Amino acid sequence: MAHTVGMNHVAIVGASLAGLRASETLRAEGFNGDITVITAEEQTFYDRPPLSKKLLAGEWEPDRVASRKADNIDALQLTMRTGVAATGLDTVSRTLQLSDATTVSFDGLIIATGGVVRTLPNQPNMKGVHTLRTLSDAMALREQLVPGARLVVIGAGFIGLEVAATARTRGADVTVLEGLASPLVRALGAQMGAAVASVHERNGVIVRCGVQVQRIVGDISVTGVELGDGEIVAADVVLVGIGVAPATQWLESSSLVLRDGVVCDDTLNVGVPAIYAAGDVARWPNALFADVEPDMRVEHWTNAAEQGAVAAKNLLMVHAGEQPTPYAAVPFFWSDQFDSRVAFLGRARADSVVDVVAGDLDSRFCAIYSTNDRLTAVLGVSMPKLVMPARVLLQQSTSRAEALAHFRAALA
Ligand SMILES: Cc1cc2nc3c(=O)[nH]c(=O)nc-3n(C[C@H](O)[C@H](O)[C@H](O)COP(=O)(O)OP(=O)(O)OC[C@H]3O[C@@H](n4cnc5c(N)ncnc54)[C@H](O)[C@@H]3O)c2cc1C
Repeated sequence: MAHTVGMNHVAIVGASLAGLRASETLRAEGFNGDITVITAEEQTFYDRPPLSKKLLAGEWEPDRVASRKADNIDALQLTMRTGVAATGLDTVSRTLQLSDATTVSFDGLIIATGGVVRTLPNQPNMKGVHTLRTLSDAMALREQLVPGARLVVIGAGFIGLEVAATARTRGADVTVLEGLASPLVRALGAQMGAAVASVHERNGVIVRCGVQVQRIVGDISVTGVELGDGEIVAADVVLVGIGVAPATQWLESSSLVLRDGVVCDDTLNVGVPAIYAAGDVARWPNALFADVEPDMRVEHWTNAAEQGAVAAKNLLMVHAGEQPTPYAAVPFFWSDQFDSRVAFLGRARADSVVDVVAGDLDSRFCAIYSTNDRLTAVLGVSMPKLVMPARVLLQQSTSRAEALAHFRAALA
């Protein structure tokens, strides 16, 4: 059991996945002091991945996205402050300022505020224009995805493409508009991005790349999206899916270092004793990929779950005078689009060399990415048995030639 004398009150900002795993870990490690969880949303501890998949499809109702049964949450004995945002942090007095003009003092703090959706500079507030991050966003969008509705998705990232697939399956007419030359370019590179997204064209989604969105048009309700050349793409519903920014605005006047996320060390400590960050908001040096990126911020479910646990454990370990554990892991995410299950392990860079090691780019396939001649990522489309065992290759330093030999042997 962790020694917790002098650590009587831990505050956690953000009641989503990283905040949940932090709360559970504090209790599992024997912390029996107060835990206050402050969160801007009214709904707490639910999973976001189904919001663009089964919940949006109408196959699941909101009760299915709960991360835990109510009894399990009650057993954690948390003081919940829902619908209240943290607006400031004083690291000297160790106090949080909240949007209801109250303050919360703490001995330990975990910052788990995740991400906020980016919006277009001139995005109008009219009926039919949506973003997707929260359960209420998903329910509002779902209501409008009726058969025959014309949906325009701005941005061919993972969320935009998942919504496109779900909406198409529900009978909507779907057009995806992307400014870059190919879908999923940032995550997968141009060739693999196009290959993964080809399932959309096969299912009747129109994917238009290299187009600039000028503005969303309409009056009370949206009627279309105007492109750079004046063309108007008609729409009854628009999803703006242009990515997520780390939710750090509330920390801008604090002493913490912010650089596209809260900058942490390899143990997720933010540079102030007993303050840690975890999940989509945290930027940290991942020792397994130091030669690819000096530090990274990851917007995936598994990362948020693992970091929430590591941050909480390290908070207690350091307080007890023990060595904290660095967080070094192979990032992983999945995405479901029509009947394709995309799985991606590791990190790709624009200059990574891509080898297709199995399958056919038009259907199921597996590809590997090598950076500086080292294996740094594995992508699979509906080939889970080939992707997941490769995690161990990514944990070690595996050359491109060794990786190619591994896959040849696995397929023999
Ligand atoms: C639609 C959708 C589909 C996804 N699908 C997948 C998938 O298939 N695979 C995958 O790997 N990942 C997926 N993800 C990503 C995954 O859900 C996130 O990585 C994960 O939710 C991050 O958890 P988090 O706890 O770090 O932050 P978040 O889930 O963003 O939660 C942060 C919480 O903090 C609150 N908050 C923010 N600022 C403040 C403040 N100042 N004060 C108080 N509270 C605040 C927010 O309201 C929010 O409740 C998906 C995400 C979305 C939105």
